Amino acid sequence: MGIDEFVMSYEKEIRMGFFFGMLAVIGLWELIAPRRTLSVSKTVRWLNNLGLVFFNSFIIRLVFPVAAIGVAAAAQGNHWGLFNTIEISVGLAAILSIVIMDFVIYVQHVMVHAIPVLWRLHRVHHADLDYDVTTGARFHTLEIILSMAIKFATIVLLGPPVFAVIIFEVILNATAMFNHGNIRLPKSIDRVLRLLVVTPDMHRVHHSVEDDETNSNFGFSLPWWDRMFGTYRDQPRAGHTGMTIGIHKFKDPKQVLWITGMLTLPFKGKISHYAINRRTWTDSKDNEL
Ligand SMILES: [Zn+2]
Ligand SMILES: [Zn+2]
Repeated sequence: MGIDEFVMSYEKEIRMGFFFGMLAVIGLWELIAPRRTLSVSKTVRWLNNLGLVFFNSFIIRLVFPVAAIGVAAAAQGNHWGLFNTIEISVGLAAILSIVIMDFVIYVQHVMVHAIPVLWRLHRVHHADLDYDVTTGARFHTLEIILSMAIKFATIVLLGPPVFAVIIFEVILNATAMFNHGNIRLPKSIDRVLRLLVVTPDMHRVHHSVEDDETNSNFGFSLPWWDRMFGTYRDQPRAGHTGMTIGIHKFKDPKQVLWITGMLTLPFKGKISHYAINRRTWTDSKDNEL
């Protein structure tokens, strides 16, 4: 069995294995060495955040008949996309595909902050009152559908090897769970690590209630895009234990903790400012953050 056939046969097992494996490892780490004290009931948050994850995976299966690797296999069979039309070694095509797909995720993340309607969807990720491993998987169903559509389009244009797509998905999932972890890492290790991967202290800045801090550190796996495109910010002003997590205007537990509240969150309030253009916080009535 070739690597692509293996990936096609065990796709679900590979993804579920990494998801639950990372959940267990980071979840335990959070118990042993937490970075911040949680402000609301962990049981309520975990049940609702993970509830949303399971609801999303059910809906995704209904909306999209094939997985991303299915699209990659179809692209390969039909000679669609860059790497299926040029002469390139499979190893190099895999590495480039993983890096390019990560860049697309970075651009997509900047986009969902910049476009008001998309920010409404992405607010669900940011409205979590605490920051831990389950925050990393907490996204509105419509944002997940949008992400899948963008991923499928990228695959059709890029023509990545099938196994590279699952490696990309597993890395993205694992790093998202790692860097949303409420975990303590020695500063010296964080310094070195964040040259290669987005660390919890780096991504936590992005979950601050302060606009200028929210509009920083958009990367999920690779930390380079933020440094290259000028969106990198080293630390939060108030420090990691002093900073406030969430969105200023959304504090009602029914709205931000419960799954029903999360699903209706994008439809609350009027569309006003262009989110990313506000770099300083003013407490005006039509502010969306
Ligand atoms: Zn964000
Ligand atoms: Zn995040």
